[in-house]
Amino acid sequence: MRSHPPSPIWHPFTQHALDPVTTRIVRTEGAYLIDEHDHSVLDAISSWWVITHCHRHPIIMEAIRTAAETFDQIIFAEYTHEPAEELARELIRLAPPGLKHVFYSDSGATSVEVALKMALGFFHNAGDPRSRIVVMEHGYHGDTIGTMSAGERGVFNAAYSPLLFNVETIPFPTPGREQETLDAFERLCYGQEVVALLVEPLILGAGGMKMYPPYVLTELKRIAECYGSLLIADEVMTGWGRTGTLFACEQAGITPDILCVSKGITGGALPLAATLCSAEIFDAHLSSDRRRTFFHSSSYTANPIACAAAVANLIVWQNEPVLKRIEALEKMHRERLEPFRTDPRFINVRQSGTIAALDLDVSTSGYLSDVGLQLRAFFRHRDLLLRPLGNVIYLMTPYCVTPEDLDRAYAAIDEAAEVFGRARK
Ligand SMILES: *Cc1c(COP(=O)(O)O)cnc(C)c1O
Repeated sequence: MRSHPPSPIWHPFTQHALDPVTTRIVRTEGAYLIDEHDHSVLDAISSWWVITHCHRHPIIMEAIRTAAETFDQIIFAEYTHEPAEELARELIRLAPPGLKHVFYSDSGATSVEVALKMALGFFHNAGDPRSRIVVMEHGYHGDTIGTMSAGERGVFNAAYSPLLFNVETIPFPTPGREQETLDAFERLCYGQEVVALLVEPLILGAGGMKMYPPYVLTELKRIAECYGSLLIADEVMTGWGRTGTLFACEQAGITPDILCVSKGITGGALPLAATLCSAEIFDAHLSSDRRRTFFHSSSYTANPIACAAAVANLIVWQNEPVLKRIEALEKMHRERLEPFRTDPRFINVRQSGTIAALDLDVSTSGYLSDVGLQLRAFFRHRDLLLRPLGNVIYLMTPYCVTPEDLDRAYAAIDEAAEVFGRARK
């Protein structure tokens, strides 16, 4: 075994006192991470939901190499470049109809911050003094101050609460009680003060892979429209085929006023995000009065190499049968989930497109429940990268995953239930 000097790195979402970071990855390939001891680890969560097709898709990597021959970072005020222009045109073509403008940034959280600022700017510039932001219970939109404010409050952000602003929350539409969510939203809208509803379409990811039916989203959009409020769809996780369609909003037949995309936009190869909006929102910022400018930028806005990677990702979508692959993956999950549906050791066996989730029936739950950490270690020993959210075990693999890979993952889940579950088969 090779030994390494102590590392100065502070890793994300890591309790260094309990969970030392010891696995050094030297290469990625297909659905696998390969470590320095030549172990292949199945990346069953797509490296935190970013890798869509596979690690190092050759078309995307080639596009990165080619772009690096001519570009590095270019200031994006006053200047533009073809990778960003081409990507914007393609995003508008592929997104739900009616979205007309693209604002670039570099992470999912930032794309949501941009969306919130666009929404507030829209009403501010229209002289309509609205101020309330509505979010859904259990939502997650990132870890910046603004997105933490809009997300579920809890142990993750307790220390930072002095900086967080207040938002209104509507209940998660639990099965059979969807109307309560709609009623709560309508009540909030009634006073005409709601700027926007910010929501993850169809599936709340970090909140525990909680799924709700498309018609709820359709209705939420209808209510927002009725009261002149905006709908912001955070498709940072759901975009790029995860839920079975390119964007989850398609299944609800809606066009949000603002759409946030990131993660799979480059196939997961490089950081990039985009916030798409309607003509009305862009036009509200269009003025001879400079005070109406959209005041936002980050240094690496529209990095040309990242944009080229995203353009290549769209070429992959166009030239390869990606939706067919997704359909096949959906079916593979459906078949493998079937026996778990009647398994007393699990509850809430569910699926949205390529995402499969099931809750291990244990006496404790919640993200910090020991079972989540124990499960993580259990899977790690089996060369499976899975990070259960407490007792919520989920699979969100790259689309290149094989039936054999999935068999191995589901066998490990079955085995884990024997070890950690409350009920026995
Ligand atoms: C991951 C995620 C984000 C944050 O994206 P980052 O790139 O990590 O900032 C925002 N919204 C949703 C729904 C996400 O899943």
